[in-house]
Amino acid sequence: MATIEMTNLGHVYGNGHVGLDAIELDVRDGEFLALLGPSGSGKTTLLRTIAGFLRPSAGKLAIGGRTVAGDGMWVPPEKRELGMVFQDHAIWPHLSVAGNVGYPLKLEGIPRAEIAKRVAAVLEQVGLAEYTNRKPSALSGGQRQRVALARAIVAKPQALLLDEALSALDEPLRARLRLELRALTREEGLTAVHVTHDRAEALGLADRVAVLNRGKIQQIGTPRELLENPVNSFVASFVSDATLFPGTLVDGHFHADHPGLRLPVGSGAHGSPATRVIGERALAGSRSRRAVAAVAPTAVRLEPVQADTPLARVTSALYGRHGYETSLDWAGTQLRVLVDGWVPTEGELVRPVIDQAHVFCEEPSTSEGRAA
Ligand code: ADP
Ligand code: MG
Repeated sequence: MATIEMTNLGHVYGNGHVGLDAIELDVRDGEFLALLGPSGSGKTTLLRTIAGFLRPSAGKLAIGGRTVAGDGMWVPPEKRELGMVFQDHAIWPHLSVAGNVGYPLKLEGIPRAEIAKRVAAVLEQVGLAEYTNRKPSALSGGQRQRVALARAIVAKPQALLLDEALSALDEPLRARLRLELRALTREEGLTAVHVTHDRAEALGLADRVAVLNRGKIQQIGTPRELLENPVNSFVASFVSDATLFPGTLVDGHFHADHPGLRLPVGSGAHGSPATRVIGERALAGSRSRRAVAAVAPTAVRLEPVQADTPLARVTSALYGRHGYETSLDWAGTQLRVLVDGWVPTEGELVRPVIDQAHVFCEEPSTSEGRAA
């Protein structure tokens, strides 16, 4: 069990690609932290830096209070006492399940009888007790991933690092392994860093989530904090599927470029402030500046057609666990709305009513996208 402390960590690849940009992140002892971000955001780069496969070009990394990179220190991967699991369960095909799981202990020169005992215990923990002598080729994808997990924890690592470890598995197996993984780290008090591009997985599993984009941490918070108080439009759109509206802030009032959106709105859902302006202090004086309003799908109500606002047309409605995930064309803006209580039909005309919005004092951008 250990903390992982990253101070001003940077990494620039040989070809000039920025992998990590001034990362400040403290993973607490026993914490399950998810690293969430779109493809290419630097998740793997950060995990490999923690593991010691990459040398950071700037900053400092400490594991369990010991500096392992930076300040003139360098501790190689095999001396960091970490367990790792990758997406593609890199297990040896020629070794049995027990051979694979016991391999790290063999490297440490631990006596055979002791290895057998510890392998049996950890296979029991991951539900593979009956598969000790099987070859990996005779296992399912989920079982192979359990082998990889068992091998990662058998040497009692200080922390467990997982890179898209569940992403190759199909639901519902994936959901089950997710729960098992969480139960296991809790039981063992293991510190875990879990890399994923899957929002639901990060939010459902982690104590805290660090959201990464272009090598930079955008926000670190509990799943609830990220959903309720995103710090910028990237987090709002990536984590909550918020629709972004460019506009202008004048004297604290947001004027959307869009003809239908009017802020501030009257009263928010659940008694929360209906329009919250983030980064107001950046608004010195009354100078107008460009800004972005983010509207989450849960903050929109659809009403039957009435007078003044431009109408929106339903372009798609997918039934999900929490209602219909609906897309509307609202005067040229694709608005995402969670509809509960009735069945939206394609082509239907409705009037969106915005209950809540976050306004960010930042330059609107058309390229700043969410992952597909
Ligand atoms: P993620 O795991 O979030 O998808 P990565 O950490 O793999 O992202 O990549 C982050 C950035 O670094 C991307 O722009 C990627 O193109 C670049 N990158 C990753 N690996 C290398 C490499 N070996 N050489 C050069 N650039 C790389
Ligand atoms: Mg990756």
